[in-house]
Amino acid sequence: MSALQQVSIRPFSAEQVRADFPILHQDVNGHPLVYLDNAATTQKPQPVIDAIVDYYSRYNSNVHRGAHALADLATKKFEEARECVANAINSPTSSQLIWTRGTTEAINLVAHSWGKTSLSANDVILVSELEHHSNIVPWQLVADELGATVKAIPVSQSGAIDLESLATMLDKNVKLVAVNHISNALGTINPLEKIVPMCRDTGAKVLVDGAQGIAHFSVDVQALDCDFYAFSGHKVFGPTGIGALWAKQELLDSMQPYQGGGEMIETVSFSGTTFNSAPYKFEAGTPNIAGAIALAAAFAYLSQFDRVEMLAHEQDLLAYCVKRSAEIEGLQRIGREKNSAAIFSFGVDGTHPADIGVLLDQQGVAVRTGHHCAQPLMQRYNIPGTVRASFSIYNTRADVDCLFASLKKVLGFLR
Ligand code: PLP
Repeated sequence: MSALQQVSIRPFSAEQVRADFPILHQDVNGHPLVYLDNAATTQKPQPVIDAIVDYYSRYNSNVHRGAHALADLATKKFEEARECVANAINSPTSSQLIWTRGTTEAINLVAHSWGKTSLSANDVILVSELEHHSNIVPWQLVADELGATVKAIPVSQSGAIDLESLATMLDKNVKLVAVNHISNALGTINPLEKIVPMCRDTGAKVLVDGAQGIAHFSVDVQALDCDFYAFSGHKVFGPTGIGALWAKQELLDSMQPYQGGGEMIETVSFSGTTFNSAPYKFEAGTPNIAGAIALAAAFAYLSQFDRVEMLAHEQDLLAYCVKRSAEIEGLQRIGREKNSAAIFSFGVDGTHPADIGVLLDQQGVAVRTGHHCAQPLMQRYNIPGTVRASFSIYNTRADVDCLFASLKKVLGFLR
């Protein structure tokens, strides 16, 4: 299948999907791999791997302004990739999609380019207690520089953003509300359909950290009506080192460049430099060409399936995981929102998450343990961290069974 080729919808089957991911078919520590660390990064299907190999073996060249065939082909594929990814999130135009290294760089881009021109002393940026450090620290950096303030919207014991608190915190000083679509630490799906209109009422812009949202939903930036949507390719079956920022056109037009260098300029002279228009204004230097093309291949791969069926499969895994967790004495699930993505975060009384993680790995079960780059959230629950099993489309109920069989062994050893 060519990277950008459109394919017709076929019924979703986790077993068939598994066959497309070569890495899943191996033993780790003497056991068949059970990969449950998808919130950290997803595995790559063969068409994504093929797209990278194809680029480097057939048409590796720098993009734009090339005077030869390979550069023309690389440019064509690179810009087609932008269109493919922009289409996948229902962007009105592909020029509203800026390539970045990932979510972190996309948020830093907004903090730097929008923040420094649109924020001033006494302005307020609201982030939720659920946020990844990538959606906290860039705002702290820019706020420190400008004399603005970052405030945290509290979350409930079950892991939901407290909308009543948000309503009282929103006033004319709040210039931006930055929240994630789905919490990487707990799985909570945030009610953007309520949050965005609340912010519109007071004039605050909304940035959505879509690092996890992009992995589980068919994102529609127009329906969300957010101002900025940031995501990483590697969370959605694409490579690392590529991601994107989507933004409303008028914001992109008003924003200053993020970094200086090649491609982002119109003219350069020592008496003054003028800048290119979006998206190029924000893409200084040689981009991750293979990464962009392979990310488009990931979206093309996903477009074969009905996303609703994929989501239903993940939800079934989560429900089954919750059910099986009742068998483990002393297991505490952290984050219990009904509206959650397939992320199961937990602790077990009398044990440390890190010990559980190391011993699960000995059984071939890959999970993540610790604070999940959400230290303020861990402080909120007064815990050092959690064990997190995060599911994707290629996981099956058999993986959940392995998790709990291994967990029982591990706890027999630890207790
Ligand atoms: N935001 C959330 C919710 C995440 O889950 C992650 C990664 O785990 C990030 C931001 C940062 O993503 P990246 O490291 O790909 O930039």
